[in-house]
Amino acid sequence: MNGINYLFNETSLYTKEVFKIFVLNDGKYEYDKKEFLRFIYYVGYGQDKLVSYCHLCKKEFPFSYKTELFEFTKYFKDTDYYMIVADKDGQNPGRISISDGIILGLVPPYDKELLVNNKIWYMNYFFNCTRNGSHKYMMMISIELKDGNFIVRKIGQNPSMLTVKGFDFDKYKKVLEKLDAYEDYKKADLSNADHFHVGAYAYLRRIFEKMINQYLGKTELKDDHMDTKIDAVKDYFDPRIKNLLKNLYGILSVGIHELSEEQSKEYYEYLKAIIDMQLEYVQTENDKDKQSKELAGVLSKITNLITKQKKDY
Ligand SMILES: [Zn+2]
Repeated sequence: MNGINYLFNETSLYTKEVFKIFVLNDGKYEYDKKEFLRFIYYVGYGQDKLVSYCHLCKKEFPFSYKTELFEFTKYFKDTDYYMIVADKDGQNPGRISISDGIILGLVPPYDKELLVNNKIWYMNYFFNCTRNGSHKYMMMISIELKDGNFIVRKIGQNPSMLTVKGFDFDKYKKVLEKLDAYEDYKKADLSNADHFHVGAYAYLRRIFEKMINQYLGKTELKDDHMDTKIDAVKDYFDPRIKNLLKNLYGILSVGIHELSEEQSKEYYEYLKAIIDMQLEYVQTENDKDKQSKELAGVLSKITNLITKQKKDY
């Protein structure tokens, strides 16, 4: 886990991370400072810079940032403490310093009912690209203290994960629209970004099936098996990938049930790269067709011109 980079770049909205800061022991809450330091690291306190893709620079850059901690409708700027034990009768309340995890005021262990429960803090992050300070990112998290745990959720982010990750859906838009697969292509990446890998694989498979069906057209086949279909149309594919097609379809069809969450995530990029190679191939072929038609037009014009000039002499 890489602190602020992980939280901003890799964590999708509403994912929760639980930190067991206070542990009940003999009816009293004991403080686990090590766990609090892990929390501090996770939310990015005291870290120098966020490294993220700047969608305006179109490159990865460090971002400097400021944070602002607040409660619902209650802003306390420059507050560096979490109040964890209520201020009773004007006594010194217990509070944890954000910067180093040290507790000030009333010290633990705390009676069970003394520790604040069901309380939510919010934190805003304001990021500025270090290459150009007017490139601004923003993030918001909630920190809930519940039964001794700090529960952290990312609840807002601008721009979205997809923009931050530099997704470019429109690169193959024309080709995809001809396949009626533009929405599938977007949904595949959106599902993957949301860690919904079964969905991501299913959308890639749909794109692949639409490719096969388009190439098949009205071709008659001896049976309906995917292998038969692939054999019939494989010459429409980029020669560099045409021997990978059966494997690709096999993985997209059944692989997802056999793969772990981590493996699915890791392999998605490779499987999509094969689809992208074909989209690139079709697009380049289309461009070349267009170009050669234009060239043919120009050539016949020149030929006509020469013929005409010969006649004129
Ligand atoms: Zn920038």
